[in-house]
Amino acid sequence: MDKSSKVYVAGHTGMAGSAIVRGLISRGYVNIVTKTRSELDLLDQTGVKEFFEQEKPDYVFLAAAKVGGIQANNEKRAEFLYDNLVIEANIIHGAWKAGVQDLLFLGSTCIYPRDCPQPMKEEYLLTGPLESTNEPYAVAKIAGIKMCESYNAQYGTRYTSVMPSNLYGPNDNYSLESSHVLPALVRKAHEAKLRGDSTFAVWGSGNPKREFLYVDDLADACIFLMERGVSEGMYNVGLGADVTIRELAEIVMEVIGFKGEIKFDSSKPDGTPRKLVDVSKMNALGWKATTSLRDGLVLAYQDFLKGAQLFQN
Ligand code: GDP
Repeated sequence: MDKSSKVYVAGHTGMAGSAIVRGLISRGYVNIVTKTRSELDLLDQTGVKEFFEQEKPDYVFLAAAKVGGIQANNEKRAEFLYDNLVIEANIIHGAWKAGVQDLLFLGSTCIYPRDCPQPMKEEYLLTGPLESTNEPYAVAKIAGIKMCESYNAQYGTRYTSVMPSNLYGPNDNYSLESSHVLPALVRKAHEAKLRGDSTFAVWGSGNPKREFLYVDDLADACIFLMERGVSEGMYNVGLGADVTIRELAEIVMEVIGFKGEIKFDSSKPDGTPRKLVDVSKMNALGWKATTSLRDGLVLAYQDFLKGAQLFQN
């Protein structure tokens, strides 16, 4: 990839896609193609095919997806499966048809079996049953990984997949219903502090463990892989350390300066007990995440404060 290569970032308004665009711009890339949803509906097969035929990008980052936290995944099961399958199929197939040789697909660590040995290695894919709360999303992401592998095998492309752990950072979703745990807790702690509440609600038991990755670190890993020309296969991307949800809630309270008590809501699901990724494959290439959870949370909170008045639901 050189600085004048034509690079298409699908999903550039989302958290991951916008971080990839930021990363590309800061590295001096000058030919970045993006399309808003009204310009190009990624669920429209013909539209996506025509877009690729016209633009013929050299490189594609596939960061477009329907994403959400445990509740959204669990309740909108059909949408998470359909939208993600169609977006992946349209983009991967459209890119191949238009002669794109290099594509990077963003997966998720929920593709690994629910009771996977920890830390989870890439080779554990499809070795056991999935966690039920996000099974439709995981099945769609597994289909994307298998599309990349299959197109490489049959057509000789270089399509790579990246599995990031739970992402957070600028442009996150702070909806209380559909967000992931970290942005939800940032918002809840902030609002509890403003209201002067004595408690702060955290879903589940607080015992599950999660690994959190600052989204600019993910973007760095994706661009690193494309620049290196490492192709095919899949790569876990994570910080290499996890915390319990209780520990996360405590760090969030500390960063935000909220001094109340945590109240666990056992009517909400815990989800998978743990999903720490093994990052030795990326480390062996010379890549490592650099933003600690605390530093990333400070940055995320600053970003949240810029738009805090906008969050209504
Ligand atoms: P997951 O990693 O796919 O399970 O998705 P989430 O990030 O939504 O949830 C991770 C864990 O955080 C689960 O055990 C949730 O029950 C827990 N959690 C605690 N409070 C919240 C909250 O306010 N919102 C969300 N989404 N999860 C929460």
